[in-house]
Amino acid sequence: MLKTKKYEFWFCTGSQDLYGDECLAHVAEHSRIIVEKLNQSGELPFEVVWKPTLITNELIRKTFNEANTTENCAGVITWMHTFSPAKSWILGLQEFRKPLLHLHTQFNQEIPYDTIDMDFMNENQSAHGDREYGHIFSRLGKERKVIMGYWGDVQVQKGIASWMRTAVGVIESSHIRVMRVADNMRNVAVTEGDKVAAQIQFGWEIDAYPVNEIAQAVSAVSQSDIHALTDEYYSKYEILLEGRDAGEFRRHVEVQAAIELGFERFLEEKNYQAIVTHFGDLGGLGQLPGLAIQHLMEKGYGFGAEGDWKTAAMVRLMKIMTGGKKDAKGTSFMEDYTYNLVPGKEGILQAHMLEVCPTIADGKISIKVQPLSMGDREDPARLVFTAKQGPAIATSLIDLGNRFRLIINTVNCKKVEKPMPKLPVATAFWTPEPNLKTGAEAWIIAGGAHHTAFSYDLSAEQMGDWADAMGIEAVYIDRDTTIRQLKNELRWNQAVYR
Ligand code: MN
Repeated sequence: MLKTKKYEFWFCTGSQDLYGDECLAHVAEHSRIIVEKLNQSGELPFEVVWKPTLITNELIRKTFNEANTTENCAGVITWMHTFSPAKSWILGLQEFRKPLLHLHTQFNQEIPYDTIDMDFMNENQSAHGDREYGHIFSRLGKERKVIMGYWGDVQVQKGIASWMRTAVGVIESSHIRVMRVADNMRNVAVTEGDKVAAQIQFGWEIDAYPVNEIAQAVSAVSQSDIHALTDEYYSKYEILLEGRDAGEFRRHVEVQAAIELGFERFLEEKNYQAIVTHFGDLGGLGQLPGLAIQHLMEKGYGFGAEGDWKTAAMVRLMKIMTGGKKDAKGTSFMEDYTYNLVPGKEGILQAHMLEVCPTIADGKISIKVQPLSMGDREDPARLVFTAKQGPAIATSLIDLGNRFRLIINTVNCKKVEKPMPKLPVATAFWTPEPNLKTGAEAWIIAGGAHHTAFSYDLSAEQMGDWADAMGIEAVYIDRDTTIRQLKNELRWNQAVYR
């Protein structure tokens, strides 16, 4: 289901005609070599496409407008090899509507001490030209990413790769459509929000459907399709009967298979890539969608529980941004549940009633059938597992009434000390940065939700850059966070974003 377009990024080198043809030939040759080597590096998730050197206002403007209308172009990478007077860029940049990376690099890594002369200096002066170019961005107040360093350096290449994923998140955001099959859970504040504002700011379309309309799609699924998907579940996951009758157990799992197939067909038919449900509003559905939603998330759909469309859209967005990533560790909807407050072992146990994405699982994944402690349906089948260890990010998008704020917490995922045999849900356990006390205090002061969009495969920088591109506030909670500084930052941001 998660199909990422074959995006490309244009590489545009700036110069001017003051230097003569020989110099311009070198500029073009150097930028061609850089593009070729970047593509060969194996670090970049998308192809870089070389474009002829931009030396006039007309060509700059034309190239940026072509980038706007080229559907597969997700952004432009610019670099001033020589000096390129920045007034030439004003109209082109004003009309450009896609993500832009200012790669502040230089063709040669080392100063050629023995041979350097004025000709060399005039030809290789990005330290000079990139400052002129950067100035006009700041003057125009336009968002861009700046990465400095030698283009052959792996860290620089990794930086370009990360930015490419952010750029795709920016481009794809306006293609996210969220299906609401129930309203927000009554009286819950943080999952509410202004859907019109979300469409204006992020491009998201968020529509409601009566739960029984999707329940009918579930009823329409054929027995043979249900059996085929149930067989797939049984071959993929371990079955934990725990004293239940095998036939009765399988019938519970079949209900989830029907829900998955019915939901997916309904979503596909109506072109939605994210979905929200609500355990208190299930209409004709036999069980709360558990395993069904978990498997849909694994396929790349966004999900939010209790009507939380903001988190559903963010989960979908983050799945797009991490699409096709090598050795990906997973992205999921998540919820803060309960603490371990023992000194030296502090952390937050993460779970949900059922709906945690199996992409984050470490080791074996099992199916359990257990009663729900809330709601009035039959015992739902769900996948249980524990999550991987390592650094990750938890994000919460909140609506402050007149604007949105994205809170990004860097967290360290760990194993709990002991198994939890009586807990019939998938779990993660993490310690937020800088530590549980400051991290949780900062999260609460910033107004962060109990639901998060969580990923091992994105950095705080990538999500913050996405927020910048969307024109919303990003609040980072990480190893540098202090409460005094955070409170000031929130006060100051209130003056900026209004
Ligand atoms: Mn919840």
